[in-house]
Amino acid sequence: MVLVLGTFNRKKGEELAGLLELPGIQVVTLANFPGVTPVEEDGSSFAENARKKAAGYARQISQWVLADDSGLVVDVLGGRPGVESARYAGPEADDAANRRKLLAELAGRPLEQRTARFECHLALADPRGVIQAEAHGQCRGRITFAERGEKGFGYDPLFEIVEYHRTFGELGPVAKGRLSHRGRALEQIRPILQQLFQTPPHG
Ligand code: IMP
Repeated sequence: MVLVLGTFNRKKGEELAGLLELPGIQVVTLANFPGVTPVEEDGSSFAENARKKAAGYARQISQWVLADDSGLVVDVLGGRPGVESARYAGPEADDAANRRKLLAELAGRPLEQRTARFECHLALADPRGVIQAEAHGQCRGRITFAERGEKGFGYDPLFEIVEYHRTFGELGPVAKGRLSHRGRALEQIRPILQQLFQTPPHG
């Protein structure tokens, strides 16, 4: 069985693939399907965008697609960057520019006003583009005053897990996978994937 991860974000795809590890399921990304047109992420929620991506890519390639829509929700910024996390500093912005903008927006804010959470919504579409399962995960933390660590992607070097005194940029993939919004959403959807893709042979 083939499961396609509905993302063009290489680091996010690698993280998802590393967390999935489902025996018998071949996990590939959209990079294996040249000519696929990016689905516009113009929904007003993570759930809406995840459903749009899963269904849109599944219809284009006639495969099972698991799509993730995720982002950072900063309390004192009224929930921004939220669904705009990937393009916070502009349509062509890269991760470093988004992190710089976040630090600038929080300049002068004391520790207690730097609370935030990551959210992740996963949607699984069948090859006809019909949504068959969904899951949501979140992870609370705090935005640091400066970048710490070089692991992960996106806002990881600025997102501190308070109990660990470490950012996701410092923690690395194993600890991040246990604590993160994406790891938590995946744990919820895993039994459904197992049921759909790993039906034991009869007899
Ligand atoms: P999406 O492709 O629209 O879901 O964009 C998600 C954006 O949210 C990414 O480009 C990152 O900026 C941010 N983001 C989502 N998950 C993470 C994470 O696990 N670590 C750091 N940044 C993340």
